[in-house]
Amino acid sequence: MALLPDHLLAGHKAFMSGRYRTEEQRYRELARAGQEPETLVIACCDSRAAPETIFDAAPGELFVIRNVANLMPPYSPDGEYHATSAALEFAVQALKVKHIVVLGHGRCGGIKAALDPESKPLSPGDFIGKWMSMVEAPAKIVRGNELMTAGERQTALERISIRFSLANLRSFPCVSILEGKGRLTLHGAWFDISTGELWAMDPETGDFQRPVIDIPDPDPAA
Ligand SMILES: [Zn+2]
Repeated sequence: MALLPDHLLAGHKAFMSGRYRTEEQRYRELARAGQEPETLVIACCDSRAAPETIFDAAPGELFVIRNVANLMPPYSPDGEYHATSAALEFAVQALKVKHIVVLGHGRCGGIKAALDPESKPLSPGDFIGKWMSMVEAPAKIVRGNELMTAGERQTALERISIRFSLANLRSFPCVSILEGKGRLTLHGAWFDISTGELWAMDPETGDFQRPVIDIPDPDPAA
């Protein structure tokens, strides 16, 4: 029996002769000196919305938390297991990241399930149901809006849940204190899987817009 699926072994082989070869020094330096990412991204597990790909990130550049529907739970120091809060704590307190981006995306399965009153648990534990119940209050309102199409409701809840997660981030004392001191900035973004477009949240209004990018494309001759 193969130790790993062939496509993973082939992918790693391509990585070694491609990306690792071109970035070997960077990997070695990161191994020696440790990581120092400036940005934490909270993203969905969805295989189509990988932050490192969307932001064309180099190794060591992004500290990434991925969970179903990119949700940040509220601060609740209750002695339970909190994977997302633990990773947040490490990013903010130990790595001292300067930016936190909550990255949502279109066609999110978790959000779709939250909007579907007929959705049944996948297992007796119903872990996803419990997890998505975090956004049940806004989901209930959006679900009941019959003037919106199913697609509009989906996009609306995807974006509302980003603002919801940003509010929950601010319920963590370590986040709100550092944000108040100007050492940490919170951002919201939404990725459109089909077009590749990235929408950024206006921090004042909460609206999402496509940012005007005035960064020149890399010079192909360079
Ligand atoms: Zn998703």
